Amino acid sequence: MHELATTQSLVQICTEAAAREGFKKVKEIRLHIGAYSGIEPNYLREFFPYVSKDTVCEDAELVCEMVPGTLRCNDCGYEGQAGKIYECPRCGGSIRLISGREFFVDSLAVE
Ligand SMILES: [Zn+2]
Repeated sequence: MHELATTQSLVQICTEAAAREGFKKVKEIRLHIGAYSGIEPNYLREFFPYVSKDTVCEDAELVCEMVPGTLRCNDCGYEGQAGKIYECPRCGGSIRLISGREFFVDSLAVE
């Protein structure tokens, strides 16, 4: 269940940012979640209230922005949205994932 660890590191990131930048409370956390990151937003939302208790993130709203992956053809350079194609629609070549595994904090709303 790596979402628990992910949620813990998320709270850790916010706590460090709060210490560095001097805010006391996080109201909203906007996350960028690649479709192939393996992160399941429902689990994040489930763990978050427990993990964030008594931290700067307590009661913060999690905004999960799901971002589809991008594939690129190894042969002709065609790019397309992952999940819809399994081989290059232009030349039939093999494709690889060039984005969609990322997961990061996009922005924090603080006070
Ligand atoms: Zn191609």
